[in-house]
Amino acid sequence: MKHRVKKKLLIRIFFTFMLTAVLIIGGLGLLAHSLKPDHGLSPVIEKNAVFYLSGLQQKLNSSLSEEGILNLYKDLSLYARVEGFEALADKQGLPTFQEVEKEDEGYSKKVVIGKHRSYFFAELKGATPRTVWYISANEIPRGFAFPFVAVAGFIFLILIMSFLTIRWMMSPIKVLMTGVNKISKGDLKYRIKTRQGGEFQILGDAFNHMADVLEKMVAAKEQLLRDVSHELRSPLTRVGVAVDLMNDESMKASIKEDLKKMEELVAEILESYRLREGASSLKKSSTDLGELVTHVVEDYKDTPPGIRFEGLVDASVVIDPMQIERVLRNLIENAIKYTKPHSSAIVVSLSKVKNDFFLKVKDDGVGIAEKDLVHIFEPFYRSDAARSPGKSGFGLGLAIAKTIVEAHDGSLTVTSQMGQGSEFTIRLPEK
Ligand code: ADP
Repeated sequence: MKHRVKKKLLIRIFFTFMLTAVLIIGGLGLLAHSLKPDHGLSPVIEKNAVFYLSGLQQKLNSSLSEEGILNLYKDLSLYARVEGFEALADKQGLPTFQEVEKEDEGYSKKVVIGKHRSYFFAELKGATPRTVWYISANEIPRGFAFPFVAVAGFIFLILIMSFLTIRWMMSPIKVLMTGVNKISKGDLKYRIKTRQGGEFQILGDAFNHMADVLEKMVAAKEQLLRDVSHELRSPLTRVGVAVDLMNDESMKASIKEDLKKMEELVAEILESYRLREGASSLKKSSTDLGELVTHVVEDYKDTPPGIRFEGLVDASVVIDPMQIERVLRNLIENAIKYTKPHSSAIVVSLSKVKNDFFLKVKDDGVGIAEKDLVHIFEPFYRSDAARSPGKSGFGLGLAIAKTIVEAHDGSLTVTSQMGQGSEFTIRLPEK
């Protein structure tokens, strides 16, 4: 059945861009409007300007002398060019009548208003004697450049809003990425939460379906391996009994050796499944980890390249001692197995940070290639270097070790460099 996809994302993106465009165009329009000179003075302002300028003119006329004009300057912090008293104005460097006429903005019929050089001027048309009043630009307090700041703020707000909206629209991709990362790291049980409706729900559902299929496939493969291993045990035992009856001793020894390997492999596979079934199979008890490590290290002290234990000795922790010992032995035996001809002694160390113990096994052996690092904890994975003659193993040791440590709510990690050596770290919570 063909599923009809609601074009939710498309519609959202479309509307966001439309809205952004409209807002930006609106903002720019507002800016342009604020910069454009507004022709025509509002009647209220014109009335007030006429009223104020007439008052000034009256005051001027009442003492029309050089002294009177200078006093007016002082009282009002204003200047004026008065017909008949031009000398006074020229001394101040005030704009001439002609300059004023040229700069008149033509706002009003009754009043002349404008700016020339650093002087704002105003004149009441038809006043006698003709008088232009000036105020120096320096005396006007610098105001808040409202339109520019407001428009800049507005555009900034639009950008922030667009960014947040697009980020919100993209959030399902982040959810999907988390899912992809989890699945690729082997967490096949992870499913993503999908939003209702739209393309992302379909994508999310498809992703979850893919994870279901993957999980089932892996489970089926594991079940097959487990069943085969289980079924192999009886025939192997029977072959063992039959081999005992053979007369050819050298043939008998060789078959017995192969049988032993097969039995070990079957036992390891079954054991790894048993362990994976959960922490319930662990037999935990309060254990002195330092003592356990000292005891294990002792067993390898005469095996080349030698071994050394550093750090904490007194470390009480609740673990299954047999299983943790098994993990430690596995790591030490690997360090011995993947040694180089002149490797120095393996270093085992134990430390505590907050509530976690860190047990490390460090060697300066062959190291692990970067491409192998991500796989070495997978069952049956062996690097090319490990397949060289004399290096036996099934590639199950680290997979089992990781299962055991994780069943203790801890973690098993590795850092390594090809040709330089490796360091495995077991983290175990105190309780
Ligand atoms: P194996 O039985 O092959 O040793 P493991 O599960 O113990 O299986 O290890 C998996 C792979 O990890 C090995 O085949 C080897 O390539 C690599 N490896 C493990 N420990 C070391 C180490 N100390 N130095 C180098 N390679 C190592």
